[in-house]
Amino acid sequence: MKKPFVTHAQLQAITEQYPTPFHLYDEKGIRETARRLKAAFSWNPGFKEYFAVKATPTPGILKILQEEGCGTDCSSLTELMLSDKCGFHGSDIMFSSNETPAEEFALAAKLGATINLDDFTHIDFLKDTLGYIPETISCRFNPGGVFQLGQSKEGFQVMDTPGDSKYGFTRDQLFEGFRKLKALGAKRFGIHAFLASNTISNDYYPALAGILFQLAVDLEKETGCDVCFINLSGGVGIPYRPDQSENDIAAIGAGVREQFEKILVPAGMGDVSIFTELGRYMLGPNGCLVTKAVHFKHIYKEYVGVDACAANLMRPAIYGAYHHITVSGKEDKPCDHVYDVVGSLCENNDKFAVDRPLPEIEIGDILVIHDTGAHGFSMGYNYNGKLRSAELLLQADGTVKLIRRPETPEDYFATMLFD
Ligand SMILES: *Cc1c(COP(=O)(O)O)cnc(C)c1O
Repeated sequence: MKKPFVTHAQLQAITEQYPTPFHLYDEKGIRETARRLKAAFSWNPGFKEYFAVKATPTPGILKILQEEGCGTDCSSLTELMLSDKCGFHGSDIMFSSNETPAEEFALAAKLGATINLDDFTHIDFLKDTLGYIPETISCRFNPGGVFQLGQSKEGFQVMDTPGDSKYGFTRDQLFEGFRKLKALGAKRFGIHAFLASNTISNDYYPALAGILFQLAVDLEKETGCDVCFINLSGGVGIPYRPDQSENDIAAIGAGVREQFEKILVPAGMGDVSIFTELGRYMLGPNGCLVTKAVHFKHIYKEYVGVDACAANLMRPAIYGAYHHITVSGKEDKPCDHVYDVVGSLCENNDKFAVDRPLPEIEIGDILVIHDTGAHGFSMGYNYNGKLRSAELLLQADGTVKLIRRPETPEDYFATMLFD
């Protein structure tokens, strides 16, 4: 059973001070998650998590992660600027972009960020943009084909198709690219790959590590380039559904270590640093969207209208993604009613839940939409002139802090030209 990280009494008090809807984050949970990850990889002295800023681009969150020793992973100009404003500097910033504008490479280099190139042609583009190639450089690998893990009767545990994804160098391009970068002055090399998203499996990172570690050994041997870090990127998932079980990050860290000791250590590469760029795993369960039931509608189905909409959380609308919902104060009541929980957009996909068994809902009930801490608020948009909500932090001492004010109509009109 999924329980919210915030009690009914706390939510009643918070909603008296801050109108719904809002995203609420759990400082204690964020710190605990960051510490669990760090402990799982403590066997690797150079380990570092570069939090994927796109998941939750909020200073109040980034600062907590910074205190826990994380860097940031950026993929755009404003994410780089945000990292800079939050006090991340130099090698605390990873820049993993694609189809990159020149000004973004220029800012990344100015900040001293580690640049992770997405394509072979970006080597010349970067050199032409900067006038040089940085001494530390990384390249993203795409092995092509289909990536599969752990076949069972129910199918594959993890399956994704790198061959259809727009990212990264082919294997041949990577070897040629490393030689070229070395000739242009690069001295310290990294490799990066992201092969599957939201994996509910302790085997994904170890399997990816096995592929990248062997690749690193081959690259050093054939090109003479010094591979200093291997970036396992994002993709460790979270149990959105109540029947799914949580990944065991300690087991994941141990699985990566096994590959490290089997492949890198015998090759004399035991000093390689492991990096991660997790977003969802770090923040997903540590945030929720809090909304109120405002209308009922009884037509061919039973609808509960809430004051949040897909502009606050887009995942159900665009991917049909499941987000668990609990009714605050009714967590232990039987789920003996079936509702569609819907927002107010003039779009029929604006549904947080379809045919969802829930306790009987009354107008004014507070609904907690779970696991919105990553790729939740950040995917928000202004369709139908809807305004983005506030973000609040439930601090470790139990008090609540506003970490982003809600948008106002003035924000909405700010870019419009009336004459
Ligand atoms: C989106 C992204 C991540 C984070 O992915 P999660 O699934 O949230 O862990 C990390 N690295 C890169 C390059 C990404 O694009």
